[in-house]
This record gives sequence, structure tokens and C-alpha cells, in this order.
Amino acid sequence: MNPPALDVDAVRADFPFFSPGDGGIPPAYLDSAATSQKPRVVLEAERGFLEGANAAVHRGAHTLAAEATELFEDARESVARFVGAEPDTFVWTGGATAGLNLLAYAIGNASAGRGGAAAQRFNLYAGDDIVVTEAEHHANLVPWQELAARTGATLRHIPVLDDGTLDMDAAARIIGHRTRILAFPHVSNVLGIVNPVAELVELAHAVDAVTVLDACQSVPHLPLDLPALGVDFAVFSGHKLFGPYAVGGLYGRGDVLEALPVFLTGGSMITEVTLDSAGYLPPPQRFEAGTQPVSQAVALAAAVSYLDDIGHDAIAAHEAMLAERMRDGLRSIDGVRLFGDTDHAARVALWTFDVEGVHAHDVGQLLDSRGVAVRVGHHCAQPLHRRFGLTASVRASAAFYNTIDDVDRMLDGVSGVRAFFGAA
Ligand code: PMP
Repeated sequence: MNPPALDVDAVRADFPFFSPGDGGIPPAYLDSAATSQKPRVVLEAERGFLEGANAAVHRGAHTLAAEATELFEDARESVARFVGAEPDTFVWTGGATAGLNLLAYAIGNASAGRGGAAAQRFNLYAGDDIVVTEAEHHANLVPWQELAARTGATLRHIPVLDDGTLDMDAAARIIGHRTRILAFPHVSNVLGIVNPVAELVELAHAVDAVTVLDACQSVPHLPLDLPALGVDFAVFSGHKLFGPYAVGGLYGRGDVLEALPVFLTGGSMITEVTLDSAGYLPPPQRFEAGTQPVSQAVALAAAVSYLDDIGHDAIAAHEAMLAERMRDGLRSIDGVRLFGDTDHAARVALWTFDVEGVHAHDVGQLLDSRGVAVRVGHHCAQPLHRRFGLTASVRASAAFYNTIDDVDRMLDGVSGVRAFFGAA
């Protein structure tokens, strides 16, 4: 049975961004992998909290503080459930980068002897391996480089094949008895391909390695059940999920999160403090030192409830149609090379490409002059660009609010690029 069709005009009417006040034509916004536009319900939820319910959560005896705490914890429950998780396995962070650094530093603290006996499962020694992929966003690479440098562990990577998929034969060779951590993207922010999570998790868990999933580019597009994926940890960011900036989620499997030592310390995460020592709350509060992104959390809960109302099947079908149209259109333009050009892998509506003889920034500027917003540069994935022999590329990424017209405007623009720059 076909999924219900998405009424994209009705969706766009929910986003102030697509109804500019001057009555002009909104840009063909094809940069949602960088950050997404926000529906009115999200803006109203954040404003409503700040105007009518603002108070410090988890402290204070007044009624407002209790109400704000309830809204904040309800938001945790909503966003945790959205990714299939229990609320006590869901930590609020400042975003995906913050979540990944939390993990890398907390694991480093275990390696420095912190966290007691339970934390020893995270200890890293010289000769241990941390494994990532060649397709990492720098946020899921640099923190592990730093951790390797602090502990003497070796950072190794699973290569990417010419078609953008991971070299799973190499993965099976690389992930071995020395592997302590396997960190990888669910969907690369450059390739758009959904990586084989189950196979990678199986390889890692067979050698008792901790698995860390960067789910930034999957959570906004695929219905997810993080516990069912079997990963130990996963991170995602609110601003790519049609929610506010400076908020994100870290999921940690119950016993693994329980054993993880602290990273940031201070208020809100303690039981009792003396001048010499402190006791810590259980997760998730143990990982939420200081004042939390409260209004942002409440607004992110509004975003996921909005997505639930629109319907994931309708969203997936619409985005698949856009992905196909982008692929077919880009493939048919002379001189365009797509990264991750395969019909044989599940993907999101994101294509990265190079136009022969024209710098990515020039392509971006020409498209911009035609009202098309794409991302150009290395997209925080320099090693992957190097692997494809480039320093920069063009990335068009869609979300459920994009129209066929947005895609066609982009394709029209790209068709004219080589002639415009005399490269044809
Ligand atoms: N990982 C991936 C795959 C990303 O696309 C991004 C955002 N570009 C990040 C991590 C970092 O996310 P945040 O902006 O929430 O720190």
C-alpha cells in the first residue's frame, strides 16, 4: 500500500521561513543537512515557555520551578520516545558535537582511573584501537583523535569504497580483539547513504567494543529505534531536527550509561558535596551539569510531536521522491560527479557533487544568485574529500518541506554552471 501523500503546501504554510513577510519567493532551501528550518509550533513553544513558564528547573520550591521542571522532563520523555528510548537513558546535551565530546572525555576519565570498578570496561591502553570510518564529520573524528593521544590508543579507520559505501570486508579485518571503541555515522553528512548499523554493531560487540552512533543525519529523516539498533551510545542534534540551536540528545544503553564516568561536573549533577569530594546522581542527571537548555528542550519536543503528526511514512515517501529526482537530474548533467553514486544503498535526500572544471564555491554562488541555497566546502569532512581527490564539493540536501520546484531550480542552475564559467 502506498503511504499517504504529503501535502507539501500545507507543510510549508507551517514554516514562517517559507512565507517571507515581503511576499517574495522563498529560496529553494537545500541545506537542511547543515541546519533545518523550524515550524511555527517550535518557535511558539520556545517563546511560550520563556514568556509564561520560565524558571530554573530541578531547584527552587516555588510553583513555577516545579512547573518548568515538569515541562522539561516531559520534553525529555517525548524526545527520548521519539528515538525509541527510555527517558532515563536520554541525556540533554548542547548538540551532537557536545555529546561526542562528552563520551570521549568521559571514556578518557575512565582511562585515567575515574568512575570506579564499573568504569573499567571503558579503560583504554596503549595498543588498544579506536575505530572510526573515513566518512566521519569532524565532530566524530577529532574527539577520538584527542582521546587516542591522551591514552596511547591507536585510531584506525574503515575505508569508503568508490561508490560511497563502507568497505565491510575491511571493517571485518580492522575490527578485532584490540578494538575498544567503534564510532561511525548512521548517515554520512556528505554521502547520504545509510550505513549497515546491524553488521557494524555485530562486529564490534563480538569483540566487546563500545559502539557510538552519530545519528545527526538520520534522526531527522528515518523513524528510529536506537535501542533496537543495538548501539551503546548515539548522539543527534536539535537544530537539524527542526528544533532550536544548542540542544541535542545523547542516548546511552542503560548499563553502559550507568557505568560511564562523569565529564562536566558542577551543580545539578551531585548528591552531596563537601569541600573535598562529591557524590553524583544517577544518569541522566549525572551528565547534565549546570543549567540545561530548557526552553530549547521544550521546543524540540514540539518539533518531534509535529513530525509525528505529519507522519513518518509520508515524510519518507516524499523525501525518497526528492532524492531520486535530484539523483536522476544531477546524473544527466555533463561534468557532474556524484559522491556515493549508488542505487543499491538506502539513503536520505542528500547528494554531494563536483562540477568538473568549476570550483564548488563558484557553483554555490551561481546557485545563490538564482535563489538556490546549497552548501559548499568540505562540510566538516576533509578526510572524505581527500579520499575523493577534492578539497571542496557542493551539497544539496532536502527535507520534507522541499518541493519538486526547489529541486528543479537547483538542477536548472547546475546545468548552466559549466557554460557560465567557460568550462564546458
Ligand atoms: N555529525 C554529523 C554527521 C553532522 O552532520 C553534524 C552537523 N553538521 C554534526 C555531527 C555536528 O552536530 P552539531 O551541530 O549538533 O554539533
